[in-house]
Amino acid sequence: MNVLLIGSGGREHALAWKIARSPNFTKLLTIPGNPGTGRYGRNVPFPLNDYPALIDLARQEQIDLLVVGPDNPLADGIVDAFQAAGIPAFGPTAAAARIESSKSFAKEIMAATGVPTAESHVFASAAAAADFARASGKAWVVKADGLALGKGVIVAETVEETLDAIAKLSTIPAGHHLLLEERLYGREVSVQALCDGERLWPLPPARDHKRLEEGDRGPNTGGMGVIAPVDEVTPALLDEIVNRCMQPVVNELAARGTPFRGLLYAGMILTADGPKVLEFNARFGDPEAQTVLPLLEGDFLGALYACATGQLKPDTLRRRKGYAVCVVLCAAGYPGRPRKGDLIRGVEALDEDQVLVFHAGTAVGPNGLCTAGGRVLGVTGLGSSLRQARERAYAAADQIRFEGKHFRRDIGQE
Ligand code: AMP
Repeated sequence: MNVLLIGSGGREHALAWKIARSPNFTKLLTIPGNPGTGRYGRNVPFPLNDYPALIDLARQEQIDLLVVGPDNPLADGIVDAFQAAGIPAFGPTAAAARIESSKSFAKEIMAATGVPTAESHVFASAAAAADFARASGKAWVVKADGLALGKGVIVAETVEETLDAIAKLSTIPAGHHLLLEERLYGREVSVQALCDGERLWPLPPARDHKRLEEGDRGPNTGGMGVIAPVDEVTPALLDEIVNRCMQPVVNELAARGTPFRGLLYAGMILTADGPKVLEFNARFGDPEAQTVLPLLEGDFLGALYACATGQLKPDTLRRRKGYAVCVVLCAAGYPGRPRKGDLIRGVEALDEDQVLVFHAGTAVGPNGLCTAGGRVLGVTGLGSSLRQARERAYAAADQIRFEGKHFRRDIGQE
């Protein structure tokens, strides 16, 4: 099978790595890719908005399956274009991807299907949101409706902070509508599931660490690390999350004529009243993918193809025993303005059975591998216990060297 993969992050390196290990894999093209995805095929710089040209390329290269990593091309309708051209695609159409690209749409679907989530109110203007917040006399979680690269949510502690957050988020493009949401309390967990439009196949539950600093302090980032599986999510709780929080959404999208085919990601909070949904994403998390994919056995590419064509079988994949811990190594300046061009050493000498190094913000310069973005590498340690996986991840994180390297030391530490 010939595969066209879209994206350039650590998630896409993990996808490329897993796809290339599948029995029916023949060829990979990645747009635009990174030095990690380049190991399994060709990286092609190509404009993503020129669908006719993209489909010509796919036809020339005899592509059997499109796999989309990031959210933006999904929201822009890349899968719709491939479907119209008769090329199977792993990823939802723009209509189904609204479960991520519009928080108010996600809330509407959850309300229609009785999925447990936080109470929320949608506003078409900052003034209306501010009036409501003032009249309520309490603090709210303020969310921009659209895609905002993880920067569209502010958890306010007071009414004043709520008003500041409304003012701030109303100025970004995603803030054309604003949501005020009741704050929920509990531990967070992410459940990702493959979906063929009808059926869901859950991957090991994961926990990300979004804040820059240890102890969950500092600004939000794209993600500083992840552990999987999360033992608190027992098989019974995972079933409950899938059956009560995810399957109704899949059923509803199908009933509306916009079935969801791809990866459905439920950001959950485990409250005293049971699990509730914080958000849905329409693609793999980054770096969640870097922990869950190494925990799978079986025909991954076959499973993606089955999702794309509406015939996912439960026995295509199996969960492997053990744990994975991904630690993200960041460049100087991240999450502000990351410095580029620092030489990276020490990646070569690692044992692939115990540690996987996924490229994200890297490039090959005249002197070798160097930094080229904020999140540089994702180092995934594997082990039979969480502790062993952590130790392996951190031993490798210490062995990899580049100027300005920084990372959290407490990923997976209770
Ligand atoms: P989201 O993009 O909606 O998942 O929000 C990003 C982060 O903001 C989440 O991972 C939570 O840590 C936090 N958050 C979002 N909504 C709420 C809420 N209703 N109550 C508490 N925290 C929230």
